[in-house]
Amino acid sequence: MLSKMLADEIRLLPYFTREKREFVMLKEQNMEQAAAEVLNPFAIAQAQLDEAADILQLEPEMHTFLREPMREFHFTFPVRMDDGRTQVYSGYRVQYNDARGPAKGGIRFHPDETIDTIRALAAWMTWKTAVVDIPLGGAKGGVICDPRFLSSTELERLSRGYMRQIARYIGLHKDIPAPDVYTNPQIMAWMMDEYQVLTGHQEPGVITGKPLEIGGAAGREDATARGGIYTVREAAKVLEIDLVGTTAAIQGYGNAGQFAHLLATELLGMKVVAVSDSRGGIFNPKGLDVTAVRAHKANTGSVINFAEADNISNEELLELSVMVLFPSALENVITRRNAHHIDATIVAELANGPTTPAADEILYNKGVYVIPDFLCNAGGVTVSYFEMVQNSYQYYWDELMTQQRLDQKMTTAFHAVHNMAQTKKVNNRVAAYLVAVNRVAQATRLRGWV
Ligand code: GLU
Repeated sequence: MLSKMLADEIRLLPYFTREKREFVMLKEQNMEQAAAEVLNPFAIAQAQLDEAADILQLEPEMHTFLREPMREFHFTFPVRMDDGRTQVYSGYRVQYNDARGPAKGGIRFHPDETIDTIRALAAWMTWKTAVVDIPLGGAKGGVICDPRFLSSTELERLSRGYMRQIARYIGLHKDIPAPDVYTNPQIMAWMMDEYQVLTGHQEPGVITGKPLEIGGAAGREDATARGGIYTVREAAKVLEIDLVGTTAAIQGYGNAGQFAHLLATELLGMKVVAVSDSRGGIFNPKGLDVTAVRAHKANTGSVINFAEADNISNEELLELSVMVLFPSALENVITRRNAHHIDATIVAELANGPTTPAADEILYNKGVYVIPDFLCNAGGVTVSYFEMVQNSYQYYWDELMTQQRLDQKMTTAFHAVHNMAQTKKVNNRVAAYLVAVNRVAQATRLRGWV
């Protein structure tokens, strides 16, 4: 909020000398910055932990230990481009915490990647594996690049180049990468192969989210969305809502968003009325056909300009009046600016970090039921864990078995969090932290670290 005096000065700007004008403008900028919401994902992750640590009355040493990553690696590596040039890329791998087991988490290829986003995502992986109670820690990796502008051969060389950097720090018993934003099973296949070239032996469980033909798990592809859909089903039960025929909006149309569209329709009988990607959104109150929208995106590169819908902006999509809103893309889409306008009964966070702490408070006070990210999207890493298990004993389950075991994990985790929220009278995110941090802290104590 600008002070009245500053507002008056801004109104008089045209009448001031250049120096005075510059001085007033600088003051305005500083005021705005001071009033701005903190959007650094790692600062957010730490603030969320702080709140949980306070309620859990964590010992100060434990709190300090859990606030920072245990290990992080920064790399610079060259990649030969198709035209013969060499392009130098930067990447990271952060092993946030491995008290409960080997570190685990995906690799993102994104132009806006920073060490702080990777740190935050690695922290959230730590809480994610703990909340679904699988014997793993948390990690995350990333390369600053825009894969949409790389050819397939360039992407392969980039993937292999990144693996050459991380290979010595990862392994089935150390740290196991997986897909994330803009990485996919083919990229996992190249990386697994490069790891084998470097080590001289087969170790498929070193990376998950692989194609089925080379050690992938049946059911891994839709696992993130499927796990999220199970939590929505459970949320509807506790809220006593019948979801059949109700509406959903999906922000983000990558792996999680596309499968959420399919499964919200197939498993919950819902009507998906709006979806969006980085170029914009589409809306049809009668519902969007998943096969047709996916085909349209495959052909044109985006969901926008779909014949049987109107174009809308991402911002408009988030504020639609729907039963379930699925933020399924990146961080910080529900903030102090728009949280008051969110008009969904349930927000199911398939993305990591889509809601800021200030927005969390607003949503909670409005009575919106948020299924927090590291619970809602834990299906991906849960089936990654199943993939590692199958790789280790070289015997593969069918898809139904995976789905049943995933359902069991997600349902148990959901109710642990929901009950914690009810007992402690906190929002679901804080409750999820209480469950997860407690488990990680206990493992840390048992190991004798703190
Ligand atoms: N990238 C996914 C996540 O954020 C999956 C991680 C994994 O399977 O290890 O949960």
